[in-house]
Amino acid sequence: MKFFQVEKITDHVTRISGLISEYMYLVEGSERALLIDSGCGAGDVRSFVESLTPLPLSVVLTHGHYDHAGGAGRFEEVWIDPAELIPTPIHYDRSQTFEKLKGWHPSLRLEDMSPDPVFHPDSEASVLCHPLTAGMRFSLGGISVEAIPCPGHTPGIFCMLIVEDRLLLTGDACHSISYLFFDNALSIEEYRENLCVLKQQEERWDSLLLSHPIGAAPKSMLDEVIRLCDEILTGTTDEVPYDYQGKPAFIAKAVDENMLRRDGVYGNIIFRKDKLQRNQRPE
Ligand SMILES: [Zn+2]
Repeated sequence: MKFFQVEKITDHVTRISGLISEYMYLVEGSERALLIDSGCGAGDVRSFVESLTPLPLSVVLTHGHYDHAGGAGRFEEVWIDPAELIPTPIHYDRSQTFEKLKGWHPSLRLEDMSPDPVFHPDSEASVLCHPLTAGMRFSLGGISVEAIPCPGHTPGIFCMLIVEDRLLLTGDACHSISYLFFDNALSIEEYRENLCVLKQQEERWDSLLLSHPIGAAPKSMLDEVIRLCDEILTGTTDEVPYDYQGKPAFIAKAVDENMLRRDGVYGNIIFRKDKLQRNQRPE
């Protein structure tokens, strides 16, 4: 079974696609390499990345969801915001994630799955989790990666700025369809504020990298998503119903079968009406 595919983005940056088309990014300098996210846990991401680069490797996780942190149990240490270590139903669980992925990939075997990372209650892997903090910089030799927080999708999610290549990986923090409906997601009001703080640094990048379902977007997507937050707060979006585990959620702008906006604009949000304002009590 082929678990990973690669695509070169710049001299320093390689996009690695995992089993469910989730994207990880390998950034290589002259001295070190950094893996941003570890995929959904299917396949041995560590061996695969080590086959791509001979450099000493560090691993940073943008947030704790299974499709980003699933392979963490393969490594000795990772960097992640401590807020992301509190397990949620969307965190990686070796047997549960296996059952989910097997539905899409029937030939997947349990032994293909990574061990549970240290923040899972049944963890057998000893993964040291270092706290990822705002402004933290991974210097790799000629290229560096800086961590910039943008809470919303989750409380401790980070964007990663590949400084010298002027690329901002927004990942799930701001993508073509941002999920703001999980129980621990922030309100639209708070998310909007965090996007505006992120935007203050926008002269530092030329374009955006994403984690799925598409790999890249123009930097104007940030403005579109801020605008969409305003429209959500004033109740002027399309509000296409979207069921999430029995909880009513809404897609802000109508989408096609690939979950991309019908109007061709980059940036969309799935939200809940009980998580619009800060201090609003969720239902
Ligand atoms: Zn996520």
